[in-house]
Amino acid sequence: MALMGHVLTAVTACNGVESACSRLACWLRSETTRVHLCIQSSVTVCVDMANQAVLHGVPESLSAKFVGSFAYLTVRDRLPTILTKVVDTIHRNKNKFFEEHGEEGVQAEKRAISLLSKLRNELQTDKPVLALTDDGVDTDMWNEYLQRQQALMDENEPPSWFKSPWLYVECYMYRRIQESIRLNPPICDFDAFKEAKTQSFFESQQAIIAVCTYLQGLNKNMNDFSEERLLGEFLKLLQVSLWGNKCDLSISAGQENSQKSSPVESLEDLRSFILVDDSNLVWSVLTGGKIPGGSWKRQGRVDIVLDNAGFELVTDLVFADFLVSSGLAKQVHFHGKAAPWFVSDTTREDFNWTVRQTMAANHRWMSKSGAQWQRYLKDGTWSYHDHPFWTLPHEFCDMAGDAPDLYAALQKADLIFFKGDLNYRKLTSDRTWDHTETFERALRGFQPAPLCSLRTLKANIQVGLRPNQGETLTTQEPNWMTSGTPPLFTRGEQLEGCLLKISKDPSQLDMEHFYCIIVQ
Ligand SMILES: [Mg+2]
Repeated sequence: MALMGHVLTAVTACNGVESACSRLACWLRSETTRVHLCIQSSVTVCVDMANQAVLHGVPESLSAKFVGSFAYLTVRDRLPTILTKVVDTIHRNKNKFFEEHGEEGVQAEKRAISLLSKLRNELQTDKPVLALTDDGVDTDMWNEYLQRQQALMDENEPPSWFKSPWLYVECYMYRRIQESIRLNPPICDFDAFKEAKTQSFFESQQAIIAVCTYLQGLNKNMNDFSEERLLGEFLKLLQVSLWGNKCDLSISAGQENSQKSSPVESLEDLRSFILVDDSNLVWSVLTGGKIPGGSWKRQGRVDIVLDNAGFELVTDLVFADFLVSSGLAKQVHFHGKAAPWFVSDTTREDFNWTVRQTMAANHRWMSKSGAQWQRYLKDGTWSYHDHPFWTLPHEFCDMAGDAPDLYAALQKADLIFFKGDLNYRKLTSDRTWDHTETFERALRGFQPAPLCSLRTLKANIQVGLRPNQGETLTTQEPNWMTSGTPPLFTRGEQLEGCLLKISKDPSQLDMEHFYCIIVQ
C-alpha cells in the first residue's frame, strides 16, 4: 500500500572540521565568512517509491577505506583525538573518584584508561571490530549488527575500523567508550563528556539569555498575533534551532564550542547563506488541520529528535515552547540518548540539568523560561524519551524492523524534527548518494510521520540539491561540504556592516556589546 505523506527536510550545510565550530562571533567578524547554508525540503513520497531504492540497490556506505576521504580523515585523526580527550578527562577526575569511592575508584580509573588506550590502539592499527562484552540492554543488538557487518565483508576479512562503514565504526567507538567505563564499577556511571557539555552551556549564557528573553517577549502577547506574524516568528525560531546545531563538540573533537551571540537578530543576514529554503512546507504541516471556521492550527504532537546539549538544546527548548504556547502543537516529545554519545549529545541527565539550570538562572526571563519548561514536563505537555535505538549504529530505514516499538511511537507524531548531522547521516544511511538524489529515496522507506531534518553540514553527504548545484559548489570550492569555505558568498563586509549598524560604538565591538544591543 502506498503510504502517502509529507516528507520535509530543512538542511543546512555549513563549515567543516576546522571551522565548523568557530564561534559565530568570530565568524561574523571575519573578512571571509566560513559558512555555507542550504535549507531544502520536499513533499510527498510513497513507501513504494522508497522501496524501489532498496530493490534497485543503494550506493556504497561512506567509509575510511576511501583513503583521503572525509571519513578516512575522521577515523584517522578526529576519533583518536576524542579518545585521547576521554582518557585525559578520566585521569583528571582521579581525585574525585578517590574522594567518592576511595582506592577502589582509583583502580577503576586505571582499568578504564587501560581499556581506552587499547581501544585507541585497535583503531589506529585497523584491528578487527570486537564483540561487546558488557551487560548493556543493547549489547546483543550490537553483536548481532557485527554479524551483519561481517556478512558484508569479503570472505575471511573481518569488519575493521578502516574498512567498515564510517557510520558503524564511529558509533562503535562511542559504544566502546561506554563499555570501558561501564565495565569498571564504581565509576561505571561516569559521563566523560559531562564537563564539556556543562562548559558549553555556561559559556553560552549570554546567548541563552538573549533567546529566552526573545521567547518571553513573544509569549506576552502571542494570542494577538496574526497568522502572518506567527509564521514569521516560527521561521525565526526554526532557524535559531538550526543555527544552534553549529555547537557540536564531536566535530571540534571536544574543543570549546559555545555560542557567544544571539542569532535571533542576525537571522535576516544569515538567511543569505541559505541556498534552498522550503521551511514554509514545515509550516504547512503544522497548520494542516485547518477546519473551516475552526482553528487553523493542527495542535498535534511534535517530536524532536535531539542532537547536542548546551546552547543547541536551549534553542530546541525555546522552539518547543513557542510551538506549544502558540498553539501550533499540543504536545512535544523529545528524544535523546540513553548514554553519553558523540561528545555533546543530549542525555536525560543533560536534559533535566539544562531545565534546572535555566530555571535557577539569575536572570528574570531565563528563569521564567526554565520554570515554564519544568511545568510542561510535570503536566505531560512535554516528555523526554531515550530509546536505546538512538545509540545503535543502525540506519533509520532499519528502525521499523529492529526497533518496531520506537517506530510505532514515532508514527503517533504529526511532525518529527531530526536535529543534526548524525541524524541526517542515519536518515540517509550515510551513503554516497548523488547530490541530486531525492531525500525521499535516500530515506529508503523510513517514513513514520512527516519529518524535517535540521542540520549544519559536518559530513560529506548531501541529497536533494538542484541539478548542477552540487557541481557548481564543487567547482567553486572542492570541499564545500567540509572545508567551511563559502563557495557562493563573500559576505564578510556586509556582515561586518550589520554589526557596525547595530553597535553604537564600533570601537567597543566585542560580543558582549553585540548581544547587549540585541537584547534591547
Ligand atoms: Mg552531536
